[in-house]
Amino acid sequence: MKITDIECFVLVAPDLRKDATSSSQDDIVVLVHTDEGITGIGETDTGPWLAKAAIESPSSHTMALGMKDLLIGQDPFDTSTLWEKMYTYTCMSGRRGAVICAIGAIDMALWDIKGKALGLPCYKLLGGAHKEYIVPYASLQPYGSTVDEYRDSLVDWVHRAKEYGYTAAKLECTLGGPYKHSGLEGTDEQMTEIITACREAVGTDFTLMVDVQYLWSDAKSALRTIRHWEHLDLYFLETPLQIDNLEGYATLARESPMRIAAGEWQNTRFEFLDLLDKGLLDVAQPDIGRVGGLTEAMRVCHMAQDRGRLIVPHCWKTGIGIAASAHMAAAVPNCPYIEFLPAEMCDSVLRRELVIDELQFVDGKIPLPKKPGLGIELNPEAVEKYRVE
Ligand SMILES: [Mg+2]
Repeated sequence: MKITDIECFVLVAPDLRKDATSSSQDDIVVLVHTDEGITGIGETDTGPWLAKAAIESPSSHTMALGMKDLLIGQDPFDTSTLWEKMYTYTCMSGRRGAVICAIGAIDMALWDIKGKALGLPCYKLLGGAHKEYIVPYASLQPYGSTVDEYRDSLVDWVHRAKEYGYTAAKLECTLGGPYKHSGLEGTDEQMTEIITACREAVGTDFTLMVDVQYLWSDAKSALRTIRHWEHLDLYFLETPLQIDNLEGYATLARESPMRIAAGEWQNTRFEFLDLLDKGLLDVAQPDIGRVGGLTEAMRVCHMAQDRGRLIVPHCWKTGIGIAASAHMAAAVPNCPYIEFLPAEMCDSVLRRELVIDELQFVDGKIPLPKKPGLGIELNPEAVEKYRVE
């Protein structure tokens, strides 16, 4: 089989708000076509125009080859070989950032092709299932223009998630820092009150995680507050510090009363090596598209497994990336949860409409996917409606 063409679509939700923190308002969908009529689908969570340029740029010299140039005529089954080629021959402008995210979308599509060609779901090709079902957690982003509204919204969300059948949820509780909700600011004490209210709303037999989205400037500031969160029994605390503060992460890993999670932005296994070995992270959160696709994500999973750490992938895009997360989670023994909201619970039109996906939420669990490849189909009407490039 040979790759014959690569197409990139940029999609934008018509209700896009530049002040919203959600990255599910835009998307790049990558289609890899073959001479056997099989097309693989991938996506990545980065600036879609940047990723498109990384794929479609013409070659200029040996260390700055265009990815499309590099892939046409190659065998899509050679996922490891093609990953190394894409990484090596885009090195001068790549190695990290949007170029790796673009490699991630292509790699995802290549795995989809392999599964479709063999008639097997991707998780089978990744080594087979380590579990009978996948456990989702609900990722909850509250609304509100005051701290009280924000708290009430989050309490309402977590209550609804439990009623819906979830056994776990992640609270976005971010009253400062670069991701603060629509500019809303608050104190650490107010965050403690919000998380306490959520714990009281769901009781003790429910798993809660908290995401503060890079809130604190240093480990001591974080510890001052999170030391008081031990009795709230949080499964993990996500991205308490700026991600390059590896020493700070190591301090928190040693001294915080809960697991520390991070990695949603990281590109390549090399960045996870730093987070695991220097940052001493408990929970690595690769986003499949951003880390460099399923090929690279599986390497990160194995590195975490070797070190006795957990994987809980980041996923905040459409049914394409969610399917990739689910297949990886099935094939990885140290992945207890995936980030997953059923389409009907999501604000994003792209999440709701772009893909006809296979994954179902049944009694708080997701049954293993059965369809070949990633098990998804693009909805052509949604592509038509939201495509801007
Ligand atoms: Mg996060």
